[in-house]
Amino acid sequence: MRWSQFYLFTTREVPNDAEVVSHQLMIRAGMIKKVAAGIYTYLPFGWRSLNKLMAIVRRELAGAQAVELSMPCIQPAELWVDSGRWKKYGKELLRIKDRHEREFCFGPTHEEVITDLVRKDVSSYRQLPKNLYQIGTKFRDEIRPRFGLMRGREFLMKDGYSFHASRTSLDATYDDYAAAYRRIFEACQLDYIMVDADTGSIGGSDSHEFMVVAATGESAVVRDRATGYAANVEKAVIGALTPPAPTPQTELTEIATPGKTTVEEVAAFLGLTPDQIVKTLLFETEKGVVAALVRGDRELNEVKLLNLVGGLQLDLARDEVVREVTGAPPGFAGPVGLAKSVRIVADVSLAGVTRFACGANKADAHFVGVTVGRDLELGELHDLTLAVEGDPAPTGDGRLELFRGIEVGHIFKLGTVYSGPMGCTYTDDAGADHPMEMGCYGLGIGRTVAAAIEQNHDANGIIWPRPLAPFEVLLVALNPQDETVRTEAERIYGELCARGIDVLYDDRDERPGVKFNDADLIGVPVRVVVGARSLAEGKIELSQRRDREKVLVTPGEAVGKALELLASA
Ligand code: ATP
Ligand code: MG
Repeated sequence: MRWSQFYLFTTREVPNDAEVVSHQLMIRAGMIKKVAAGIYTYLPFGWRSLNKLMAIVRRELAGAQAVELSMPCIQPAELWVDSGRWKKYGKELLRIKDRHEREFCFGPTHEEVITDLVRKDVSSYRQLPKNLYQIGTKFRDEIRPRFGLMRGREFLMKDGYSFHASRTSLDATYDDYAAAYRRIFEACQLDYIMVDADTGSIGGSDSHEFMVVAATGESAVVRDRATGYAANVEKAVIGALTPPAPTPQTELTEIATPGKTTVEEVAAFLGLTPDQIVKTLLFETEKGVVAALVRGDRELNEVKLLNLVGGLQLDLARDEVVREVTGAPPGFAGPVGLAKSVRIVADVSLAGVTRFACGANKADAHFVGVTVGRDLELGELHDLTLAVEGDPAPTGDGRLELFRGIEVGHIFKLGTVYSGPMGCTYTDDAGADHPMEMGCYGLGIGRTVAAAIEQNHDANGIIWPRPLAPFEVLLVALNPQDETVRTEAERIYGELCARGIDVLYDDRDERPGVKFNDADLIGVPVRVVVGARSLAEGKIELSQRRDREKVLVTPGEAVGKALELLASA
């Protein structure tokens, strides 16, 4: 491709909302153009990279016996009513009406459409399993679209769905998918990790996410190198925590703590350490108020609490509700003397605590010397503490490392969550009907390319891993008006193209400085520079974008050297 005929305009301008490097570089390198918040045009240079990824995905999924189809973006509301999600799905679902006032939505995901398809076509165990996928546009009205393609509202996803007559068949396909994802992310040369993930409100059993390691990632992940345990913090299990020392006070005593509401303030005031205080967090749920108790030095894992209590989201109790159930303003809640209607759930780490301090359910007062068994029973114990760096690993003697990741893929054993309500059933060999076992498998196309840039760049621009590079070789003609330069560049261009290499030929009438800056910015793995001065000495200059180390070869060697550098790029 000749740059002069291509559509690629680099820019120095970085919009204010481009907070992460991949977003900035995608804009600067002319890959994407914003149309509205979270909605982008994929410009030709960016689209080439997305296509390279899609080709890798298709190749690897074919290897996993997945079959491609394409489903519509616009989906009728009835299917969502059928699955029970029309009411449940929140504001991320863009609901629309046609001219007949019939309700539709723009698909944020396609479980309903595919389950409807399969329930109509497949009826016998003999036709199962089936493993289908598509690559298509999704729309989710994200509350905070940001980071460019990383969290768009309109975005490209590869979504796969599998249907089975048994759990073992689902397990096998799930494992095949996990292996295919590994091959895809390895092919993209990404530093990634597969982690245990929360199955959330959808239910289902197993779920894994694929996280690209990046400081700007929106997900927090823990890992124990010794055992290989890795999980999203939402799901992470921690080993037993060392119980804090009991409070020195042995009697249940109320102490005035005027204006002290945070754990740190109260601990300092009472001469205790934060872990000797029990924090009481109140939430309003569909089934009434729930009080979650965690150690004062730790944070509550809200995802785990939500899974425990059920419902769509967790809402901190409003002030008036806090007053109603505690009799005190917010900041002084405690498990002793809470309204009977409140369900108390305590973190497992409190099992080892004998005496602690907590809010006294009275303005400006805390209890010390609260003794389990005498002053209260903790009752329900659940795993509710958010994992942090250095926590004991769930098994073995290791410690958890905490790092950030970009969720690029998510696989999920759905079981019969959709097939049940939607009546997607099969008949077994004895003639009995059962809902099919289902799996679903998502992979963000734009997000993966963005993640690759997060991991592969320097101060001057992108450094493409070859498999995702929009072009493999950038051929730069310095002063292309010069007859000898042009002739030589054209020859090399023709030869590289003939060998099936993706070449971008910078034949623009621009100053060398502009061309070199652009070359660094757009990050094509191998650069071949044809200039009048070196050509006069019988030389052509080549380099790899990654280290920019220059090699000089004769014109006759140029193509061979370019291929050699490409092979090691
Ligand atoms: P997140 O927690 O980041 O919102 P999700 O759990 O909602 O992701 P899934 O429903 O599992 O995502 O979607 C499958 C894949 O689609 C994700 O792993 C991610 O790669 C991609 N994806 C999801 N939401 C977006 C988005 N708003 N923009 C770009 N890619 C997305
Ligand atoms: Mg989401």
